[in-house]
Amino acid sequence: MYVSFSRISAYLSCPYRYFLQYVQGFKPPANHLMSFGTSLHAALRDFYSQGKIPPTLDDLFFHYFRNWSSFGFRSRELETRFFQEGLSILEEYYDRNIGDFSPALFVERKFRAEIKGIPFLGIADRIDRLRDGSLRVLDYKTYHRNEVNELQLLLYRLALEEVFGYPPQELVFYFLKEQETLKVEASQEALEEAEEALIRVSEGISRGIFTKTRGQSCLNCDFQRFCELEDLDFQEEF
Ligand code: SF4
Repeated sequence: MYVSFSRISAYLSCPYRYFLQYVQGFKPPANHLMSFGTSLHAALRDFYSQGKIPPTLDDLFFHYFRNWSSFGFRSRELETRFFQEGLSILEEYYDRNIGDFSPALFVERKFRAEIKGIPFLGIADRIDRLRDGSLRVLDYKTYHRNEVNELQLLLYRLALEEVFGYPPQELVFYFLKEQETLKVEASQEALEEAEEALIRVSEGISRGIFTKTRGQSCLNCDFQRFCELEDLDFQEEF
């Protein structure tokens, strides 16, 4: 079985959450925030893979209209509000980034590789070829600058080194709401910690260790109704 970052993230937040979602197969409820993020991602995917250079703001809006998903919105008013917010985000994105636009080398590139013998599956939102020939991996985040986990891009770097034969030079998160970037430093120490986290999660899954972990992650857990919190033994770490 290939381990993705989503699975690793679920396991690290709470192994029981992983169990409910990936072993028992419970589906998270319909969520308009997820649809919103997916629509923005899809608009940018098509924006960076079209042939016209430079593309216009209307081109970007066209991709947004075409990829808009209404799934999970509870009312027309809510959907309209988010749709308008998406237009504002994309307009600002365009103004800030069109100056150095160039088509991506890959968009939504799926890759498989082994890291320390563990099969890993990733999807990179965007991979760019930089002027010096090196690669940049970029991951869009809609919100949540403070909640980003650098482990994701460190694992992508390790996997893509195997895929391309050399590692990407730059690892970047782009926060769409804030129009900010965060560069992840791939120090030797950080890469070793990423490998260790992957090994720990992989061992936990294969040994069937799915301990409930009460904590912050319960607050935004999609599976609270399946999980009787009052019966939990609090555990700081797995
Ligand atoms: S509610 Fe808390 S303990 Fe239960 S699955 Fe979710 S994160 Fe884990």
